[in-house]
Amino acid sequence: MSASASGSSAPPPPAVVVVGASLGGLRTATTLRSLGFEGRITLVGDEPHLPYDRPPLSKEVLTGEKEPADAFFRTPEFFEEQGIGLRLGSPAVGIDAGARTIRLGNGEELEYGAAVIATGARARTLPGAEGIPRVHVMRTLDDAAAIRSSLEDARRLVVVGAGFIGSEVAASARRRGVEVVVLEAADQPLAAAVGREVGKRCAELHGLYGAELRRGAGVAGVREMPGGGLAVELSDGGEVGCNAVVVGIGVIPNVEWLEGSGVETDLGAVVCDRYLRTSLPDVYAVGDLASWDNPRFGRRMRVEHWTNTVEQAVAAARNILNVSRGDDPSPYEGVPYFWSDQYGHRLQLVGLASEDVVFVDDPPGEPALLALYRNGDRLGGAFAIDRVGPLMKMRGLLMRGAGFDEALEFASAL
Ligand SMILES: Cc1cc2nc3c(=O)[nH]c(=O)nc-3n(C[C@H](O)[C@H](O)[C@H](O)COP(=O)(O)OP(=O)(O)OC[C@H]3O[C@@H](n4cnc5c(N)ncnc54)[C@H](O)[C@@H]3O)c2cc1C
Repeated sequence: MSASASGSSAPPPPAVVVVGASLGGLRTATTLRSLGFEGRITLVGDEPHLPYDRPPLSKEVLTGEKEPADAFFRTPEFFEEQGIGLRLGSPAVGIDAGARTIRLGNGEELEYGAAVIATGARARTLPGAEGIPRVHVMRTLDDAAAIRSSLEDARRLVVVGAGFIGSEVAASARRRGVEVVVLEAADQPLAAAVGREVGKRCAELHGLYGAELRRGAGVAGVREMPGGGLAVELSDGGEVGCNAVVVGIGVIPNVEWLEGSGVETDLGAVVCDRYLRTSLPDVYAVGDLASWDNPRFGRRMRVEHWTNTVEQAVAAARNILNVSRGDDPSPYEGVPYFWSDQYGHRLQLVGLASEDVVFVDDPPGEPALLALYRNGDRLGGAFAIDRVGPLMKMRGLLMRGAGFDEALEFASAL
């Protein structure tokens, strides 16, 4: 029986420290407040900026439809009103679980009753190309501002990697009238993310909008040319000349600062149980770096998507409060979901992709499609291009564990 149910409610934790002042960190802090937590909340971020949203960075901020400053979630006044203390511009460098403190790079020590790790991930760089002017990655507000500035006078952009971030950058650059060459090492882009057949359809968008996609094009390095241009060197000995490069080859979770703290990590991710608790007492993790045991799928997963981060932040905040009141925590059982905007089309995936896929809506001569993934006799996931309503209906079916035949029939009638 819970302590509150028995009438002896425990005092709330005296302080919550949230490390990572971005989507997951901010949503954890604001959810704690909106659920009535009255203790101290401190949000720690290594970037100098107030928390901001990343999805617009590779889309409207690059096309020029939005300014970088439009990506900020909240004003400084909001944090004052909410009583959320900010420590920006100095990273957390360690957790002392015995003393229940988090140490910052500037020497400050913050006491916690509960802590949340939301330090996300950073972009993987191209070895040897770091520091070359006009060779960028796309992760932060500063990255977006730098790419936008490079695109202002670039005639040709090379994007390394045809994943979702690279493809969005390519699409935004095309919208600005820049020539784009996308270099993808694999023979089929996005195969691991959405399956080969669906990946092929996503990749076709580049050609439709005038970007050149080269498959099987491994990149060996980037060289500065006399006169200010860049040469992207290919593994097969070829070269592609350009004025700017954006490298989109995945991310690395920011877990190094946890070394020696007792937080278990595996393959670079923070290992959590189904309640998003790490191996340290009262320390939770959310967002891109959290690998958790998802009871809905009966397996461990780590998801690098916006919606998962928000849902986990809400779940962790609830669990912190519930546990502090003597109640049981609740498992986080989210269904992975993401969207991507490219060339004016909306791409969406819900659930888990596989190679066992049926296209239920595939009008000839258009990029639009709705595809369902089978997982045994169950619906495993769905992918859509420009089919927002039907995709959301499939999300509902997945949430209640619908059978594949039922989903097929339902989707065919939409
Ligand atoms: C350009 C871009 C576009 C995207 N578009 C989409 C989209 O269309 N749809 C979608 O579903 N998802 C999208 N995503 C993914 C989504 O934005 C991420 O899933 C989300 O940002 C993850 O949030 P997070 O809080 O876990 O991590 P992050 O957003 O990475 O934030 C972590 C923060 O912690 C900071 N930090 C790191 N180490 C420390 C430390 N030691 N101390 C203090 N602070 C630290 C980092 O600098 C960062 O500010 C996009 C991502 C990017 C980069």
